[in-house]
Amino acid sequence: MASAPSSSAETARAATLIDGRAVAAEVTARVTAEAARLKAEAGIVPGLAVVLVGDDPASQVYVAGKGRKAEEVGFHSVQHTLPAATDQATLIGLVEDLNRDPAIHGILVQLPLPAHIDKHRVIEAIRPEKDVDGLHPVNVGRLASGMPGAIVPCTPAGSLILTRRAVGAPLAGLNAVVVGRSNLVGKPMVQLLLAENCTVTVAHSRTRDLAATVRGGDIVVAAVGRAELIRGAWIKPGAVVIDVGMNRVPAPERGEGKTRLVGDVAFDEAAAVAGAITPVPGGVGPMTIAMLMANTLAAACLSVGRSPPSYD
Ligand code: NAP
Repeated sequence: MASAPSSSAETARAATLIDGRAVAAEVTARVTAEAARLKAEAGIVPGLAVVLVGDDPASQVYVAGKGRKAEEVGFHSVQHTLPAATDQATLIGLVEDLNRDPAIHGILVQLPLPAHIDKHRVIEAIRPEKDVDGLHPVNVGRLASGMPGAIVPCTPAGSLILTRRAVGAPLAGLNAVVVGRSNLVGKPMVQLLLAENCTVTVAHSRTRDLAATVRGGDIVVAAVGRAELIRGAWIKPGAVVIDVGMNRVPAPERGEGKTRLVGDVAFDEAAAVAGAITPVPGGVGPMTIAMLMANTLAAACLSVGRSPPSYD
């Protein structure tokens, strides 16, 4: 494993911190204002339904956070919690009810689902116009083919806003390295960066020389799920580093059994080399929930033929 940069020139270079909380607060304020305008001018209150199956503690926390934020921005917010033993037909039946409900503009089925349920069948049951997670094949296809109207998954959508702000100029021609190829983060991030005319490299668990690959990136997006996998010595000086990873690691210094959240990038090392970097927590995480609100507002706007706002 590579060590931290050792030259004084490198260690002296302090990256700009990309403040995801501040940008998320801006997005949320815009969503709140636009939701109020939609209500006043068109009589529409955006509605978000979040469906949770089972009692996974992390999922419970995420779902509660989404519901709270939806209420905060003035949405109609509904949560359906189903027992872990719920069968697939019942879950799809609920999704179909929500598809028909005119008060609901966004449907999010929290993943992961219990092993006996085929998540693909459930995702395909959501009407594409209400698929605020952006996982339905229609939205995936629209994003990949550059067709208008794609609902973009929240985490990459938020990551792109942070990237654009950090670069502060068109991204065209920059080398972007995306580490991770999940449907939720890596693949849609690749599509978004391609649409910005970046030269995109996708790395994954079979990539032969990850360090060399990452070193080519003017932009590095890490969505791996491995604590501090990406070392500072792998980062091109001045690069923009977007750390999507959220990993709980033991933190005995905080007391017995305590943990702390770290990203997929070794933050201190990378911050000494990068031009700008997202912290964990406080970077991509807050953007994800803000973009869920933005996607729900957009779905509500489009349901009455209005153009949704943009957040660049
Ligand atoms: P995922 O579905 O598990 O995908 C992980 C990807 O990383 C896979 O493509 C995998 O490659 C690749 N990978 C695994 N080990 C690797 C290695 N040693 N070297 C290179 N690539 C490797 O994860 P995900 O859903 O995309 O999430 C990634 C991280 O982001 C997690 O920490 C998750 O908690 C976090 N996350 C954060 C937010 C947020 O709001 N901040 C939202 C979503 C996810 P293969 O395809 O070859 O297996």
